[in-house]
Amino acid sequence: MEIHLDKKIADKDWAKEAESIVRKCVHCGFCNATCPTYQVLGHESDGPRGRIYLIIQLLEGKPADRQTQAHLDRCLLCRACETTCPSGVIYSRLLETGRHMLEQQQKRQAPDRLKRKIMTVVVPRRGLMQAGVNLARPLRPLLPKSLRTQLPLPGKNLDRPKTSHPRKMLLLEGCAQLSLTPETNAATARVLDRFGISLLTESKNGCCGAVRLHTSAREQGLKDVKQRIDTWWPAVEAGIEAIISTASGCGVTVKDYGYLLKDDPEYAEKAYKISELCVDLSEVMIAETGRLPPDPGIKNSLKVAFQCPCTLQHGQKLNGQVELLLQQYNFTILPVADGHLCCGSAGTYSILQPVLSKQLRVDKLEKLQTHSPDVIASANVGCQLHLRKDSSVPVLHWIELLDSLT
Ligand code: SF4
Ligand code: SF4
Repeated sequence: MEIHLDKKIADKDWAKEAESIVRKCVHCGFCNATCPTYQVLGHESDGPRGRIYLIIQLLEGKPADRQTQAHLDRCLLCRACETTCPSGVIYSRLLETGRHMLEQQQKRQAPDRLKRKIMTVVVPRRGLMQAGVNLARPLRPLLPKSLRTQLPLPGKNLDRPKTSHPRKMLLLEGCAQLSLTPETNAATARVLDRFGISLLTESKNGCCGAVRLHTSAREQGLKDVKQRIDTWWPAVEAGIEAIISTASGCGVTVKDYGYLLKDDPEYAEKAYKISELCVDLSEVMIAETGRLPPDPGIKNSLKVAFQCPCTLQHGQKLNGQVELLLQQYNFTILPVADGHLCCGSAGTYSILQPVLSKQLRVDKLEKLQTHSPDVIASANVGCQLHLRKDSSVPVLHWIELLDSLT
């Protein structure tokens, strides 16, 4: 696409990068075909190509209004458009730039500002999140299903092995996940223990930066990123094999640390190293299962519908891996139509865009439940909790399925 950068920003590296991304786009519109918001709303400006036009206007210094902000806000940042794009347009980087520019020139309305503020304060702070959970837990029977399903499920096994193996990896405990689905990391620790891997836990838990980076609080988000690097660095120096993420939404962010801090003289090198070490749990399990294959005679009658989070399939390009892994353990993986479409969770999207988010959830659950699964499995805490709100079958993390085998 043609673009003429506004003179005021023409010498900025971020503007030049945006310009080079825009120039790759050939207007073909293939991306609209796989964009969930375009599918639902049918408006050009609610699809990737239309949003790119809006971002070009910003980069050219043309005035933007609340309508522009609404179209960019409605983007899930699911990156399905990147997977589809034949020209390799990295739309997500463009969107982040566009949103950041708009944030500087378009003041949000008070209720929107308040919602965003609350999220950036509460979600990344584990202490506050845990306090909320503790307060809500005794009220569970009185809560509506939409809230009840967001609390940690009773009766889950939270034990972690005490054994210490020579092979060590660092586990990202996360912020929301540790309070809301603590069973995921406990199951991960038990399964990896069987493969002779010990998991080190973080000395100080905290958010990977995703929440604030995606809620118009970029500076605070980058501070979170640096804090994480400082916390993990001693383990990196001690020689850990990998940094494991069990939530694909966190993993995709940590894998991007090298890019996020590429211009920071103090952190660039460390950030790059951390990104290099970061792996999704499925990557570890595929490697370990290759080394120690499961007994082919495992008895397993569970029918599983797997919801592959956008951050796993479009962000980390690991589509189909978990399904293959579960099949090796004789789980029956059911077909799921339109698996490329977002479930509507998308980090904080379900709070900021509740109507669209709910519509996408209803659509996704219909597809997931078409073939009557026993369970729905996911790879990201946000999607898991979001789908639980209306699912008629249990929704869990896939590692719990492997943990249940012994
Ligand atoms: S990131 Fe997702 S919602 Fe946003 S434009 Fe791309 S496909 Fe559409
Ligand atoms: S598919 Fe790629 S090249 Fe085509 S309009 Fe979308 S972003 Fe541009």
